[in-house]
Amino acid sequence: MALTEFGLIDKYFRGIGAPPQAGIALGIGDDCALLDSMPGQQLALSVDTLVAGVHFPAGADPYLIGQRALRVNLSDLAAMGAQPLAFTLAITLPDADESWLSGFSRGLDDAARAFGISLIGGNTSSGPRHIINIQILGQVPSGQALLRSGARPGDVIVVSGTLGDARAALDHLAPAPAQRDARQDYLLDRYYRPEPRIGLGAALRGIASAAIDISDGLSADLGHILERSEVGAVIDLPALPLSFALQGRAEAPAFALSGGDDYELCFTVPPARLNKATALAARLGIPVTAIGTITEQRRLLARSADGHINPLAQTGYRHF
Ligand code: ADP
Ligand code: MG
Repeated sequence: MALTEFGLIDKYFRGIGAPPQAGIALGIGDDCALLDSMPGQQLALSVDTLVAGVHFPAGADPYLIGQRALRVNLSDLAAMGAQPLAFTLAITLPDADESWLSGFSRGLDDAARAFGISLIGGNTSSGPRHIINIQILGQVPSGQALLRSGARPGDVIVVSGTLGDARAALDHLAPAPAQRDARQDYLLDRYYRPEPRIGLGAALRGIASAAIDISDGLSADLGHILERSEVGAVIDLPALPLSFALQGRAEAPAFALSGGDDYELCFTVPPARLNKATALAARLGIPVTAIGTITEQRRLLARSADGHINPLAQTGYRHF
C-alpha cells in the first residue's frame, strides 16, 4: 500500500539525528516543537532552501542530498560562533518514492548525528519537484555571536581549509562519472559533504572581529563583511589556499576567488590576536591561512604574484 503523509513522516523522519539535547522539551508529533528558554544564551536561527535542478542535480544520490542539506545550514551557525541545537525540515516531494526517502533520511540522520542534533519538526507536502527547506536552531552566549560588521582597518583576513574545490566539483556533478579518480572523489565529497566549521567558529568568539561562511564565493562573501563593516580589503592572490586537486590548474585562482559552495569560514582578526586564532585552529586540526588585510578605503583589491594591485570584480552566484 502506498505510504500516507503521516506514515511517511513516522517511517522516514521521526527519530532522525542524535537524542534531543537538554532544553528540547518536545519534538515531532504535536503542532509545535517546544524548547526551554536558555538563560545567558541567544537563539541563533537560519533557514536554507535546496531546490532540485538549482542547488543539486535532480538525479543526485538522495543520501548525499540529505548530508548536504543539513551541512550547509550548520555552516551558518559556524559563521556566527553558535553551537547547533536542533533543526526542522519542510520538504516538498513529487512522489512518495521510498528508495529516495530512505536514502535522504539516512543522509540527514548521519549528518545530524555527526553534529549531535535532532530533527524536532517540519512539514511534508507534495509538489512538482524536490524542495528541501531546513531551519536550523543554535545557541550562542548572549552578545558573543560573530557578526559580519566588526572588521576594522588593519585586521588580517583568514580563511579555513581550501577554496574552489566545490566549484571544481561542478564539472563532475551531472552526470557523475562512472569511473572516478581520487581527485574527482575528493572534489565530489567536498561538494556533497562540506565540513561546517562549528568548532572553529565557537573558538573564535571574542577573538575574530567578523566572520562569514563562504557559500557564494570568497569575493562575494568577503564583500558582505566589507559592506557591513564599512571597510575595504586587499587580497593576496598567491596566498589563496588550494587543495591537491586544484594545484597547478589554470582555473584554480578564479575558482578559489569566486567559486561558491565551499562552506569554509572567512574571518577577520586584529593582528594582536592572529597568533591566538591560528593556535586555536591548530589545536582543532583545522588549517587556516591569512589571505589579506582589511583597509580603510572601501574597495576590494587583489595583489597578484607580480605585485600588481587591481580591483576585484565581486562575482559570486546570484539567483536573480
Ligand atoms: P500541523 O498540520 O499541525 O502543522 P502536521 O500534521 O503537518 O502538523 O505534522 C505532524 C507532526 O509531524 C508535526 O509535529 C510536524 O512538526 C511533524 N512533521 C511533519 N513533516 C515533517 C518532516 N518532514 N520532518 C519532521 N517532522 C515533520
Ligand atoms: Mg497544527
